[in-house]
This record gives sequence, C-alpha cells and structure tokens, in this order.
Amino acid sequence: MTALRDLLTRQIATDGPLNLADYMQLCLLHPQHGYYATRDPFGAAGDFITAPEISQMFGELLGLCLAQAWMDQGQPDAFLAELGPGRGTLMKDVLRATARIPNFPRKVVLVEASPHLRSVQAETLAGEDVAWVEHSSALPDGPVLLIANEFFDALPIRQFIRGANGWSERRVGLQGDTLAFGLTEETRIDALSHRLADTGAGDIVEFCLSATQIMVEVAARVSQGGAGIIVDYGDWRSLGDTFQALENHAPVDPLASPGLADLTAHVDFEALTRSAHPCQVSQMTPQGVLLERLGITPRAQALAQVLQGETLDAHIAAHRRLTHPEEMGTLFKAIALTPRHAPPPPGFDLAS
Ligand code: SAH
Repeated sequence: MTALRDLLTRQIATDGPLNLADYMQLCLLHPQHGYYATRDPFGAAGDFITAPEISQMFGELLGLCLAQAWMDQGQPDAFLAELGPGRGTLMKDVLRATARIPNFPRKVVLVEASPHLRSVQAETLAGEDVAWVEHSSALPDGPVLLIANEFFDALPIRQFIRGANGWSERRVGLQGDTLAFGLTEETRIDALSHRLADTGAGDIVEFCLSATQIMVEVAARVSQGGAGIIVDYGDWRSLGDTFQALENHAPVDPLASPGLADLTAHVDFEALTRSAHPCQVSQMTPQGVLLERLGITPRAQALAQVLQGETLDAHIAAHRRLTHPEEMGTLFKAIALTPRHAPPPPGFDLAS
C-alpha cells in the first residue's frame, strides 16, 4: 500500500468518492506523496520522455519561431514564460537558439507547481535570469513569449458519461478497502449542453476546468503582445476515455499505485481555443507538420555533419520520433496564440 493510497482510502471512507480531477490533483501534486512533488520522471530512466528531452532541435525551432513572431510585432518589450517546464531543457534550448538575436528578451518566468522540479530547473538554467510562480494567474502582465509542452495533459480532468437524459460523473470510491471507479446519478449539466447534439448514450466526455482557466490567464497576457505556443497530445473536441497512467514507460491501472504513476488525459484543443479570447488562435497543427515547416530536416542534416556511429543513429531516430506520423508527429498537436491583427508565428496558419 502506498502512503497516498492509505490517505485517499481514509479520505473517501470519511467524505465519500472523489471526482477524477480531485483524484488526479492529489496523485500528481500532493505536497509529500504526489508524483511530480517527489521525483524527476523524465528521460530514459523515468516514466516517459518528452520532446525536448528527445532532441535539442525541438526547443531550438520553437525558440526561433517565437523570435520571428516577436520581430513581426516590432520587437515589443516582452518576457519569456513557460508552463510546466519539467527539467528546464526546453527553455535552455530556446535561450541558446535565440542568444544571438539582438534585443531578444532573456528574462524568464516559469510556472511550476512542484518545488522539487523547480530546483531541477534552477540547475539546468543556472546563470540565467529566472523567476518562478506557482500559478499562471501570478504571471506578470504581457507582452509575453510563452511556451507549454506536455503541460495541459497533466491538468486534472473530470469525466462524464452520457445517459438518456443527462450525464453521470465517473468518480473514485471504495469497494471494500480497494479504490474503484463508480458513477453518480444521472443529472443535467449545463456546461455540457453543447455536447448533447454530437454524443449518444454511453459516450464519455472529458472536461478540464483548470485548462480553460489557465488559457484565460495566458490569453489576457498574449493579447497585450507576443505569442503563446502550446504543444500536447490530444485532438479537437474530447470524446472517449483518455485517462491513463504510465509507470516505467508502461501503461498501468490509474487506481493501482496513486502517487507512483504519471496520470494524464488527452488535451481538448477546441476547449483551449475557445478559452483564448481575445487572442487570435491558429489552426491546430500536427507536431510533425509544424516541425517540418520550421525546418527540422535541414537542421537535423546540419547537426548530423558532426556526428557518427551510435550518436548519429540516435540523432536520426530522434528526428523520426519527433516528426513521424507513427511516433509523435500526428498524436501531438500545436496551436499558437497571438494578439488580434498580428500575423501567426511561422509554421502556423490562421483558422479559416
Ligand atoms: N514541459 C516539460 C515537462 C512536462 S511534465 C517537458 O516537455 O519535458 C508536466 C510539468 O508540469 C511538470 O513540470 C509538472 O510539475 C508541471 N505541472 C503539473 N501540473 C501543474 C500545475 N497545476 N501547475 C503548475 N505546474 C504543473
């Protein structure tokens, strides 16, 4: 029994079942036993590998993309920001790629909830001008050049199952002393009324309130200038159960080891886009397409000139992994926010 499971079992026995969002939040960010609070889950030895950990090309290209957006807007006085920076690798690559661009902003604000990962980021970004905030609401006013990679998938979701006349919510309760999924009685839910037309009985819809709240905060700043690039796995409009747990690179039962497995859900880019008012949001673009448009192949070829043997093989594999449709190229998507009337960053198209 994990310490967190013990705690959750006692809490549910006293107060009743938890919705999935409360369960996810406790599993990921409980101050003593939460997944992100206690470990560095990234890389080959961790539970998963993210794009910036796969290759420096990812951060370099996104950094140059932000730089072009900044130049297109006449070089506003902006700061750099990142949501959920993990080890800090992406921001390090952005700063290196843009180091020779005159006047490009170098003041960085990181939004990170885990004190443990904040100290990892401080090491990676030693010598840089970095400040931390715990929540996007504490970001300074814009203009801002903001990135977020695999941040929104870690935010707590709730799941609703469509019935004949309304929705039942999936919750985590107890069967004996084991954690088990259960359902609430069916009720009408106004926030989901727009999904009545495109769902039928038994369909599952996921809803992430914190994602929409954070987008509102981000859009309020980007609307003053700059740009935001959001990359994550997911699709346009949530449908179906995407709640999943990963431990040691393998899927596990999300209720089996609370605090020890990473919990995620696919990102609903439609919900993010709708929350980005008053910004202009690009079309959702697959990661592979975006990176090709930004020039990943010539960049990969240039880097390959100085590599050989196993490092060259690993570099070729990394290029494929980031872009190929059977790897991260199609599952991962990106959107870009810009102030209304500003052109979208390179690689992105405006929604028609
Ligand atoms: N962007 C990184 C790491 C992604 S993992 C990469 O690409 O490698 C998710 C990150 O978001 C972690 O740093 C985690 O601690 C942070 N995080 C998760 N939930 C958060 C929340 N509610 N507020 C702030 N940071 C959060």
